[in-house]
Amino acid sequence: MNTFPLFFKLEGRKVLIVGGGDVALRKADLLSRAGACIAVLAPSISHEIRALLSDSKHELIYKNYNKTYITDSRVIIAATDDETLNHQIHADATELNIPVNVVDTPHLCDFIFPAIVDRNPIVIGISSNGKAPVLARLLRARLETLIPQGYGKLAKLAGDFRSEVKTKIPTLTGRRQFWEKAFEGPVSQLMFAGNETEAAAQLQADLDKTASLINEKHTENDISTEPQTLQNNVGEVYIVGAGPGDPELLTFKALRLMQQADIVYYDALVSPQVLDLCRRDADKVFVGKKRSNHAVAQLGINELLVNSAKEGRRVVRLKGGDPFIFGRGGEEIESLRAHSIPYQVVPGITAANAAASYAGIPLTHRDHSQSVRFVTGFLKAGAPNNNFKSFLNTDETVVFYMGLHSLARLTTGLIDAGRSSDTPIAIVSNASMPNQQVLTGTLADIVELQEKKQLPTPALLIMGDVVALHHDLAWYNLQNHQKNNNSDTTASNWLRGGTKSTPKADHTSQQAHALSMVANLATADDGLEQLVIG
Ligand code: SAH
Repeated sequence: MNTFPLFFKLEGRKVLIVGGGDVALRKADLLSRAGACIAVLAPSISHEIRALLSDSKHELIYKNYNKTYITDSRVIIAATDDETLNHQIHADATELNIPVNVVDTPHLCDFIFPAIVDRNPIVIGISSNGKAPVLARLLRARLETLIPQGYGKLAKLAGDFRSEVKTKIPTLTGRRQFWEKAFEGPVSQLMFAGNETEAAAQLQADLDKTASLINEKHTENDISTEPQTLQNNVGEVYIVGAGPGDPELLTFKALRLMQQADIVYYDALVSPQVLDLCRRDADKVFVGKKRSNHAVAQLGINELLVNSAKEGRRVVRLKGGDPFIFGRGGEEIESLRAHSIPYQVVPGITAANAAASYAGIPLTHRDHSQSVRFVTGFLKAGAPNNNFKSFLNTDETVVFYMGLHSLARLTTGLIDAGRSSDTPIAIVSNASMPNQQVLTGTLADIVELQEKKQLPTPALLIMGDVVALHHDLAWYNLQNHQKNNNSDTTASNWLRGGTKSTPKADHTSQQAHALSMVANLATADDGLEQLVIG
């Protein structure tokens, strides 16, 4: 961080603004909202400033700048259009150790005015550290639309109840759970709907109920010294899909639960940017499994989840992509069920979806592909690959997960089984991340191309006519794309050049087909797991 976001108390404190024009007016307006006593120093002061600062706590000084005016200020703003004077003010303030801001001159600022989202008492400040103020303002505009006005009122209500809650719910954990319930349940809904009185009544009722439950437990078991037992004995496990890497691809639900976690167990595929969004105080434990390096074996992970939940903690199991697509989410749940531990599963954007979107390769297309299959490309050493015969359908897109290491065996197997060696295939590496790379070719030449380019894992393989569309539809990270893609033309020509004619499918029948789509998970004899959609 180039600057640290402190929230400064200005209520009743003196702020000196040197300058009497529009810039000074804007700063005076902002600072007066925080209750500052504002002194404006300038030989002439605009009418608007005079109107704004008509309250007697403010001061208008019709004088030229002089060092003697700054001594008793908590904060100084230099808002004159005289550069030499601004430098002088900065030097004087620095000598006296008073924080100073010279407007629009970042290198002469001890602090920055952020873009502000005001839901008093909740205040959000956004700064780009002078690099991109317009971007900060755009972000602010987004937040304004995302955060209901009711949040301010909700926070005020919480403030009113704070000490009563502290008295009635003795443990920190208990209080946190109480507030989370209040902010996410009926109390907040009532407040957002504008029913302030009912929101307060509901909060009071919830508090009284919680307090009486705590009292009952005290008399029954005398557990007053055992904070954990005041809440539920058993925690909960959230199996959360973290998506392919880009944090913006998380779901709201994933984010909310990540923010509530006491402990997070995360995979190798979870990006640091996503992990960063977990509650800061949560313990974060890496249980990643890489191809030949299982940091913690699956049974061990199951056990960790169960044990943490039994300690009464809220456990987030953060998994790359979607937990139920080659994610072993199912196995983890079986173990939770066996121990009667409550759980929720939050879907995530699976790598195939991300790779397709970010590489401009639609997985289905009215003209080229009527179904899509997600298949593991991980081939057991020496296993026979009879199943390749099931990949001969040219109207189907096939996405191979975990297939990069078996690329040569996969392509040879497919060609030997009868798939045309012209079939387009793409490698999408680090899908959705800034270092995403896409390499396209055909079953015949992709191995050679990859030998040259060496795209890293994690990577997906997408096979089918739709891959040829990448050439025209790619939009993300085009620099990488152009740099790494020398085989696009092959794939495009293949599709457009007419070595194969794709009949235009009848639209109506396609819709009917789409409506009857089913997804089923099958395990083929040779160990190829498949999610078949079609
Ligand atoms: N549950 C995950 C998949 C786990 S299997 C999901 O739904 O996405 C691991 C494989 O996923 C990797 O070998 C790779 O093939 C693929 N993968 C995961 N993240 C990826 C990414 N960002 N880019 C490309 N492939 C990815």
